[in-house]
Amino acid sequence: MKEEFLHAAWQFGLFDKKTLVTDQGEDVEILHPGMYNRNSGPDFFNGRVRLNGIQLAGNIEIHIHSDDWYAHGHEMDAAYENVILHVVWDTGKPVKCRDRNIPTLSIKNKVWPRVLENYNYLMGSMERIPCEKRITSVPDTVIRMWLSRMTAERLQQKAETAKALVSELKYSPEQAFFILLAGNFGFHVNRAPFEELAKLIDVKLFAKHKNSLFQIEAMLFGCAGLLDRELPDAYAQEMQKEYSFLRLKYGLSSMNPAAWKFGRTRPANFPTVRIAQLAALIFQSKFLMSSILEAESAASLRKLLSAKPSPYWQERYDFGKPAKKTSGSLSDASIDLLLVNTVAPFLYFSGIRAANEEWKEKALSILESVKPEQNRITSIWREVGFAARCAADSQGMIHIFRQYCSNKLCLQCAIGNKILSENVS
Ligand code: SF4
Repeated sequence: MKEEFLHAAWQFGLFDKKTLVTDQGEDVEILHPGMYNRNSGPDFFNGRVRLNGIQLAGNIEIHIHSDDWYAHGHEMDAAYENVILHVVWDTGKPVKCRDRNIPTLSIKNKVWPRVLENYNYLMGSMERIPCEKRITSVPDTVIRMWLSRMTAERLQQKAETAKALVSELKYSPEQAFFILLAGNFGFHVNRAPFEELAKLIDVKLFAKHKNSLFQIEAMLFGCAGLLDRELPDAYAQEMQKEYSFLRLKYGLSSMNPAAWKFGRTRPANFPTVRIAQLAALIFQSKFLMSSILEAESAASLRKLLSAKPSPYWQERYDFGKPAKKTSGSLSDASIDLLLVNTVAPFLYFSGIRAANEEWKEKALSILESVKPEQNRITSIWREVGFAARCAADSQGMIHIFRQYCSNKLCLQCAIGNKILSENVS
């Protein structure tokens, strides 16, 4: 038995509320359980009860055993002065706060047996999704609503990364966006070097050179350390010269080229190809962050993100290595990943920061316009009977699975609460 089970039982009224009597013999009528408080202090704020017909308003404290009141030192704690009812599973000695008697109500014999069975089923399940054998009994509307909330929670969680860059590391929002976008251009293998690269170049420099794709490429390839070698053709050598000039002018520094991973990477994903695509996006969008934030639709974002690299990079995977067929622009699947992992979370972050609900809504609608991710977690949900229809669904499913199911937080989950109260009379 965990205290959080009692919290859920109290919050959702999962017990027989007729003829409730405190240890002190007062009749109890619950008018409102109060607002659940997950922080320090009493478990429920602003509850309302009637004791022997007298209405009281105040806080409710819940414990497994009555004696926990003293074990937690509430008797002298001012935060508990306003407690009107102590709700427990096992009753013990009477409790006081600063000499005031607090009535204690035990609900051990009042919780419906079926609720306990449902709780034990959830807590004891060893399935991949603990409720998976019973989830089909939960109304679709409950699942869909919870999924939407999980999608927003996941966006909020991802937005924390942007917040940390801006608030803790003091990057401008434009620079933070560039760092996150660049990191996602590296996808899994080259994320770290891409982020390092993005931290070396002030985005304001791109605005100064917004009319020259060649100069943007020179800054990116130069700072990436990929021009510090003997280069095989005129285009690359010219870029080397351009970078020498820009490096002196702006005091730029270069990365160690060994940071970039080419091995075990398909040529279409070589960092050289991705840097050329990033340069094209910067060139096409002029002011990167505002272009993305202000894009009118997911379709216009897709158009921006599919910017064609310079003709040189349309025929090569690396300097001096012509290839008959290159990927040129980002593939649709890569654009989907950028929309899901960078654009939507950053829009959501910007919406929170600027108190702009429209941006937050736009972030959600971008996810709704993208195909769902296919991975282990979405496969499990599909096997259980819920196929993701779009990335908003798959993101919500990933969030429930990782944050709730894997930690058995069923009592904090709307689906779990529905199962908990199933078949009780
Ligand atoms: S957290 Fe929710 S969805 Fe996950 S197993 Fe528990 S009840 Fe089911």
